[in-house]
Amino acid sequence: MTAPHLKVDWPVLSDALALGLVLLDAKGRVLHWNSWISRYAGIALADAQGRTLEQLFPQALSAPFRKALANALRHRLPIVLSNVLHHSPLPLYARPEHRAGNQRLPQSVTITPVVQPGAGHLCLLQVTDTSTLATRERVLQLRSDRLSREAVVDGLTGIYNRKHLDDRLRAELERAQRNQIPVALVMFDVDSFKAYNDTYGHPAGDRVLVAIAHAAREQINRATDVLARYGGEEFAAVLPASDKIGAQLVAEKIRAAVEALAIPHQASSVAPCVTVSLGVACHDPRDGDPGAHELLELADRALYAAKRNGRNQVRWTLSSAALLDIFPPTPR
Ligand code: GH3
Ligand code: MG
Ligand code: MG
Repeated sequence: MTAPHLKVDWPVLSDALALGLVLLDAKGRVLHWNSWISRYAGIALADAQGRTLEQLFPQALSAPFRKALANALRHRLPIVLSNVLHHSPLPLYARPEHRAGNQRLPQSVTITPVVQPGAGHLCLLQVTDTSTLATRERVLQLRSDRLSREAVVDGLTGIYNRKHLDDRLRAELERAQRNQIPVALVMFDVDSFKAYNDTYGHPAGDRVLVAIAHAAREQINRATDVLARYGGEEFAAVLPASDKIGAQLVAEKIRAAVEALAIPHQASSVAPCVTVSLGVACHDPRDGDPGAHELLELADRALYAAKRNGRNQVRWTLSSAALLDIFPPTPR
C-alpha cells in the first residue's frame, strides 16, 4: 500500500505551530520565521528577511544567546538555552504593555544547525514560551520559602524556634572561637505562669507569650542577635559579640520591657503584673572552648538563681567557676 500523496505547505504548517521558528542562513540572516515570532517580536516576516538578528534587535539580544548563535553558525554546534539559566534571550513580548515595561516573555531557545542540500549550512531556532513553567517555579519557590521559614519560626509568637536557636548558638560559638570575640546567651522564663493560666485561662496565657516575645524583640538591636521561644514559657537570646556587661544590659532591658507591658497578674507571687526572670551566661574565647550545651546549662542555672533569689530579675554567670558563687558546695 502506498501512502497517499500530499503536498505539504510548510509555511502554513509552521504558522500553525504554538512555538517560534526562525531559519537563518550561514551568515545568520533570516530566511524565514513563522507568525508566532512575528506576533511576539512585533516584526513582520517581510521586514525581517535578509537581516541578521543583531540588526533586527540591536542591543537587545542577551550575551549568552549571541555567543551560542555565533558558535552554532561557525562550528555547527547545537545548543539549548534553558529558561532556568537564560530567562529571556530574545526581546519577545506577550502583550504590548509588556513591551512598554520591558517584561520579556520567559522562553527557552534551541539552536540546531541543519544542512540543506544546495543551500549550505542553515541554522534553525525553536523558541518556546515557558511562562507557565516560570509561574509554577515561582509558586514552588514561594512554597519552599514558606516551608523553610516555618521550619525555624515558632508558630505562636512568630520569633525563632528552639531548633534555630540551637543551630545559631553552635555557629556563633565556632565563629567566636575563630575570631576571638565573646558570645552571650540570655535565657528567660515567665514568673508564676502556671498561676496565670489557672486564673485567666490558657488562651489568655498564649496572648501573654506573644506580647512578651514582641516586647523582647524590640530590645534586641543587632541583626546578628537571635531571639527564640525555647519551649513553653521559656525564651532565649543569642547575642554574638556581646560581653557580660552588654548582655546584662540587654537582659535588663527585656525585664523592664515585660514589666512595662503592665499585664495584670493577680496570682503572681512576685508582682501585680506579669514579669520574667532572666539568666545570662557569657563565653569569652580566652577562657577555653565550651560547647553550646555548656553555655545553655550556665544560662539555665543563672536563670534558676534569679528564680530562687525572688524572680523579676537578671542573674548572670561567666563560667563554671563563677557558678560556685551562686551554688556554693553544700558542707557535709
Ligand atoms: P516559675 O515562676 O517558677 O517559672 O513558675 P511557673 O508557674 O511559671 O512555672 P511552671 O514550670 O510551674 O509552669 C509553667 C507553666 O507554663 C505551665 C504551663 O501550662 C504553661 N505553659 C507552657 N507552655 C505554654 C503555652 O504555650 N501556652 C500557655 N498558655 N501556657 C503554657
Ligand atoms: Mg519554665
Ligand atoms: Mg515560669
